[in-house]
Amino acid sequence: MIAIVGAGRLGTALAAALRAVGYDVLGPLGRGADPRDASAVVLCVPDGEIADAAAAVTAGPLVGHCSGATALDVLAPHEAFSLHPLMTVPTGADPARFAGAGCAIDGTTPRALAVAEALATALRMRPTRVADEDRTAYHAAASIASNFLVTIEGAAERLAATAGVDRALLAPLVRAAVDDWAARGAEQALTGPIARGDDETVARQRDAIAARTPDLVPLFDALVAATRDLAGPRREPRAGAAMRTLRSVAEMREYVARVRATGRTIALVPTMGAFHAGHHALMRAARAAADEVVVWLFVNPAQFNEQRDLAAYPRDEAKDAAEAAALGVDVLFAPGVEEVYPPGFATTVHVEGLSDVLEGAVRGVSHFTGVCTVVTKMLNMVTPDLAFFGQKDAQQVAVLRRMVADLDIPVKLVVIPTVREPDGLALSSRNVHLSPENRRRALALSRALRAAKTVVADGERDAAAITARARTAMDDVDAEYLALVDPDSFQPIDNVNGRVLVAVAARVGDTRLIDNTIITTAATPDGAPTTQEDI
Ligand code: AMP
Repeated sequence: MIAIVGAGRLGTALAAALRAVGYDVLGPLGRGADPRDASAVVLCVPDGEIADAAAAVTAGPLVGHCSGATALDVLAPHEAFSLHPLMTVPTGADPARFAGAGCAIDGTTPRALAVAEALATALRMRPTRVADEDRTAYHAAASIASNFLVTIEGAAERLAATAGVDRALLAPLVRAAVDDWAARGAEQALTGPIARGDDETVARQRDAIAARTPDLVPLFDALVAATRDLAGPRREPRAGAAMRTLRSVAEMREYVARVRATGRTIALVPTMGAFHAGHHALMRAARAAADEVVVWLFVNPAQFNEQRDLAAYPRDEAKDAAEAAALGVDVLFAPGVEEVYPPGFATTVHVEGLSDVLEGAVRGVSHFTGVCTVVTKMLNMVTPDLAFFGQKDAQQVAVLRRMVADLDIPVKLVVIPTVREPDGLALSSRNVHLSPENRRRALALSRALRAAKTVVADGERDAAAITARARTAMDDVDAEYLALVDPDSFQPIDNVNGRVLVAVAARVGDTRLIDNTIITTAATPDGAPTTQEDI
């Protein structure tokens, strides 16, 4: 005789099902019962009560439990077994529901294991032995397969309702997807935009969810990331390489966690988009230096001192994405303004001193505060091993070096030389605004730097004399500043001795341009000074 202890849903269904296949069943009995005459007692009580229920049974019969997550030692000192049907048992379930279901079994002795197997087989379940150390993982898998699936369908149902589509219309789709998965496995069963590599559609879906059921966005992001992993190599390369565009911090964290889990390194290239060969050089250098390359694309409003400049800033994400993909970038991270600066945002990062001179003096201190704040945020979001910046923005590099050192941010900054047009003009996203005439006039900046270099090579060491000669070389373009400074502190220098940074800024038409070069004076074997930097 088999006794069932616990008169809940499972106990009731199990007792009925065993009776239906001819077992002599006692119960379901109330908790704490002690069915001495039974050959086996099956405890169908909540997990937390199994130990007490087992202790209430006088030594003699085999004792088993039906918990997926509980080991057998709670049943000691009885000769024990476990029997966990992989099946939901709602109230009033048809006992025939067990037929065909999987069933995890285990036993402390061959005899106990045999009883568990016999009971499972009698109910036409498919018994599989799951050892104690595998139970929690097995049980988690069962939760994902059943409970989480319901959670996901609940989310789908809510979103569909906002479009006037009823659960009943989703149900056949769900059944077909589950049948496909059961028949062919996850990878083969996967369909839809992520499997096709259609990131634009996924981004639009995300926008719709954010507008209608915003609390579902984190779930959506996590599922997108997991689905991308599943689709993996099957994703169609869109622009020559399998680059993904991510929009949210949550997606980025998910990606970073996966990369870190495999011990891979990350290089970050911060940009404001409108890519040119300077950006490409940064991406190539990053590609060569790390396992994963993330390009940050965000036109940061906080660092613009002029609304007109911000509004006119060139933007072409599709072109940028294609170029980044072709250069082997893994992730284009292009968050929206709301994602970076959500309502209530109130924190800034400011580097004293360095932020106030030259660019800071012309654009206002808020410029570098805007840069530092957004770079801190992106370093926290991406946690790169390396971050790549251009020497073109020399003061930015100096400010960020200070910030990273002062705040103990664990990243190595890598600086790439300025990329120029053949005639010397430093590449800049803003160059597209130059008319042909102003494009010609814009050469004044690099000409001034070359003039400074030439006079230093001729032996001039006086900073005022050098800047005067450089200004003269700019013809009709007025410098906003033209200064010789220490390359690290950005403090002005009076005399050139060692390394000096020559920095220049000017408006050409409506377009504000900057450029710089480092001149190094060193003694040659015959004692004559030389310059080492070329522009
Ligand atoms: P931006 O998109 O203008 O914010 O620039 C992104 C990064 O590219 C910054 O680190 C810049 O210093 C760098 N960069 C911009 N122009 C050049 C250039 N001509 N050569 C090298 N790096 C550059």
